[in-house]
Amino acid sequence: MELACLDLEGVLIPEIWIAFAEKTGIDALKATTRDIPDYDELMTMRLKELDKAGLGLNEIQDVISTLNPLPGAAEFLDWLRARFQVVILSDTFYEFAGPLMAQLGYPTLLCHKLTVDSTGKVVDYNLRQANPKRQAICAFKSIYYRTIAAGDSYNDTTMLAEADAGILFSAPQNVIDEFPQFPAVHTYDDLKQAFINASIRDLEL
Ligand SMILES: [Mg+2]
Repeated sequence: MELACLDLEGVLIPEIWIAFAEKTGIDALKATTRDIPDYDELMTMRLKELDKAGLGLNEIQDVISTLNPLPGAAEFLDWLRARFQVVILSDTFYEFAGPLMAQLGYPTLLCHKLTVDSTGKVVDYNLRQANPKRQAICAFKSIYYRTIAAGDSYNDTTMLAEADAGILFSAPQNVIDEFPQFPAVHTYDDLKQAFINASIRDLEL
């Protein structure tokens, strides 16, 4: 059997923190791991900014529920699920992804979790494990699934390398240049073809 493992943000949905920052006008929340490489430092800053703005999980989910998957994402996911078992491997949080997952038909999602108090304030975050995307691929391989993975950024590259085949989708040029071993595509039609090329089965578009 073959598993398709997809990154979420930048592949099927917009970058949640950036979209949230734009909707709320809190510029500090536009920072990503490219600006603040230390994830702990980045998340601590984000939680502080949320607290300062008096934004809790309810307000965050209200904003996120106004977001939509990327154009064509739902159709692409349906196409993929008809041909592969699909698992989404993401560094987002279940509490953030929920409203968008509803629009994608609730695919299987492995990601992180927030700690929220009774008033809705986000008090902490809990990473599922270290290097979670790569570890998930290792686990699937241990139960004899062949894996094909696609992602758009640095935090996907260990997943792409560990998978039987890795594909860069809509990646920035610096990532494409740094990881020439992975085919790089920019449209869902080309991504479908890349999955077909990576499969050991005779699949059709
Ligand atoms: Mg991404």
